[in-house]
Amino acid sequence: MNDNVLLKVEHVTKIFGQGDRKFTAVKDINLTIHEGEFVALLGASGSGKSTLLRMINGLISPTEGAVYYRGKAVHGINPYSTMVFQSFALFPWLSVLANVALALEARGDMSQERFSRAEKLIDLVGLDGFESAYPRELSGGMRQKVGFARALAVEPELLCLDEPFSALDVLSAESLRGELMELWTGGSLPIKAVLMVSHNIEEAVSMADRVIVLGKEPGRIVAEIVIDLPHPRSAKDSSFEVLMDRIYSAIAGHTQLEMSEVGTAPGSPGLTRILPGSSVGALAGLLEHISGFKAPYDIYKLESELGVETAHLVQSIEMAEMLDFAVVKSGDIQITPLGLAFAEASILTRKELFAQRARRVPMIQWMIQMLKAVPSGELPWKVFYTALQPEFPDETAERQLDVAIDWGRYGELLDYDDRDEMVSLDVSNRKEPTVSA
Ligand code: ADP
Ligand code: MG
Repeated sequence: MNDNVLLKVEHVTKIFGQGDRKFTAVKDINLTIHEGEFVALLGASGSGKSTLLRMINGLISPTEGAVYYRGKAVHGINPYSTMVFQSFALFPWLSVLANVALALEARGDMSQERFSRAEKLIDLVGLDGFESAYPRELSGGMRQKVGFARALAVEPELLCLDEPFSALDVLSAESLRGELMELWTGGSLPIKAVLMVSHNIEEAVSMADRVIVLGKEPGRIVAEIVIDLPHPRSAKDSSFEVLMDRIYSAIAGHTQLEMSEVGTAPGSPGLTRILPGSSVGALAGLLEHISGFKAPYDIYKLESELGVETAHLVQSIEMAEMLDFAVVKSGDIQITPLGLAFAEASILTRKELFAQRARRVPMIQWMIQMLKAVPSGELPWKVFYTALQPEFPDETAERQLDVAIDWGRYGELLDYDDRDEMVSLDVSNRKEPTVSA
């Protein structure tokens, strides 16, 4: 009965780092994918979606447990699967045709026919006529199509997509989604199953047969929802909405509420809680909007009401939760008295309310302490960046600093000068005398 099982992930755990810097990125994941299935992986950023995908493709190996492909344990690169990333690194000096042909060459196909094969793939993804164009002449959506063509060139059985549409503008993403669905349902591809990481609930519900929700810290499966709606699907159907609501509640129910869970300062034992990548502007917009609702309000409705992407909305909601401006439960959000005060306050009071909460965020606290320890009250951005690097991968470290500085600036706790890349204490935050030299 299980002979159509393609992929089996068994009790997989991935731990990064060593000693007291150990970090469990995903914990005890069990997952089976059958032939013919389109599975979507959803979860807040940092919930281990990319890590899981990289293990499935054999780019990294699990710390515990194993990945099986057609019953055989995956060791090293899985030759039956391939990955499409958020944005593809195309070779700028090669034409579209050469970029795709290169993927064939990489698997040892040096035949003259490789070019006609590449051409077919280019047609397949809808880039007919662009064979001789160079990457810089293409739009983001078209470049991503070349990425798809390259991934398809290896004729993978399992196509893994890591947020393949999230770097595209709304229209390009929409049209590329449509084309992928056409390719998939049309059966013109050798692909037997698709596993897609998404940040967008509507995208997952409109495309997948099954949605798996990951929670974070540690990354683990918290819900699995079967989407048994016929294609094409419409987000306006009530059955579609019901599923959206269920998934939102699975996701939102796993973001943390308590201040005690905001983590520790960088460099001290324990985990530094990742700051959600949202701005004060987005937070204010969210709070103003929900301040009108007395009762808990359906989160999924906010996406269209506010006209924001799921990813951004989830981050703003996390920010609101982290600062105690809102409470989230079972897919509903409700503003707290503090959040209401913020929403209704003048700009000055807003800054004060915000500063009171933001200075309790360990990352910001840590920055303030570092700055207070130097007489000048300022330190190069690089110093913070270097200190954060052991805790976060490069990109995350940079983003985390950006967020912390952005919040700190709004709350008039921190300041940042672009020209000399110096972070400083805001003048109003220097009341305590600093040790003078
Ligand atoms: P997602 O794709 O869901 O956003 P990731 O799989 O990229 O999440 O990351 C999950 C967690 O593992 C994050 O906290 C991330 O910082 C951490 N992580 C990922 N890769 C590494 C690595 N190579 N070293 C240390 N930590 C990592
Ligand atoms: Mg990721």
